Amino acid sequence: MENMQEEILEYLEKIIEEEKQLARRGEIPDYIEAVDNNDHGAVTVSLTSTNGTTVRAGDYEGRFSLQSIAKLFPLAIALMDHGSEEVFKYTGKAPTGNVYHSLIQMEMQEKEKPLNPLVNSGAIVMCGLMKGKDAEEKIERILSLARKMTGNPDLSYNEEVYKAEDQDLNRALFYYNRHNGFIEGEFEDTLPVYWKMTAIEVTIEELSNMAAVIANHGICVHSGEELMPSDVVTTLKAFMITCGMYDQSGSFALEVGIPAKSGVSGSIVAAIPGKLGIGVMGPDLNKYSNSIAGIRMLKKISDKWKLSIFSKD
Ligand code: GLN
Repeated sequence: MENMQEEILEYLEKIIEEEKQLARRGEIPDYIEAVDNNDHGAVTVSLTSTNGTTVRAGDYEGRFSLQSIAKLFPLAIALMDHGSEEVFKYTGKAPTGNVYHSLIQMEMQEKEKPLNPLVNSGAIVMCGLMKGKDAEEKIERILSLARKMTGNPDLSYNEEVYKAEDQDLNRALFYYNRHNGFIEGEFEDTLPVYWKMTAIEVTIEELSNMAAVIANHGICVHSGEELMPSDVVTTLKAFMITCGMYDQSGSFALEVGIPAKSGVSGSIVAAIPGKLGIGVMGPDLNKYSNSIAGIRMLKKISDKWKLSIFSKD
């Protein structure tokens, strides 16, 4: 077992080293660069197995915001609050063909629903749908789940990142969905929940702990507590593989084959059912808004240990 861990660590250190050798290749969104993550060279990876062992490498001490990875929380909570039949009255199940904050595709959907719960419009609608008397109560519910999944009882959001998240496009998505009857109330009841959850800050190990809960069908690998029912996790994984990497989801499924969700901080959470949770982080993004280093590392990890959920073994 220890030999195995050493072997894994050696491989992770090798792929981190390879990333460090590569020149900067992509962009960091301006507002993230300004307030959250301004180190283009930072790369890190962490693996947490479903038996609770973690191996990490690279710049693992840094904290970064979850960004769109946080969209998994209101989806999970809305499913637990209302069940899937009700939830899918408010959002579709289709992958996007546009950027994550697109308005245009909703116009072409049945009843103009958001395309899926992992694009901004769908996630904002889920923040509206989950139970809670106001934004404060809702973000506390999200933080409570996030604290249990990451194993950090003090987990919180970064105030500066939260403020920088207040962007007009997301306000437009809120009003568009309210116009169509998918959200009720004032924007103060919903949008601060969305902005704050995307600003939740984690370490790479906390991210792989979170991934391990998904890999472990909703049961915390450390405490043994059931944090969400397995059918909710099944829905999360299905959306991760079909929509989690935005317009790169198809090629990512083919080349890496692991349910995953990316965020514009350059982080990606990935879960191999029954086996392993993975967190990767590298701030430079490709044209799909996914981490360049993160995808490359996930591909290497998937190839090395044959982890694609679509492969034979
Ligand atoms: N903060 C981002 C937004 O809502 C989150 C998007 C992302 O990580 N893709 O615009």
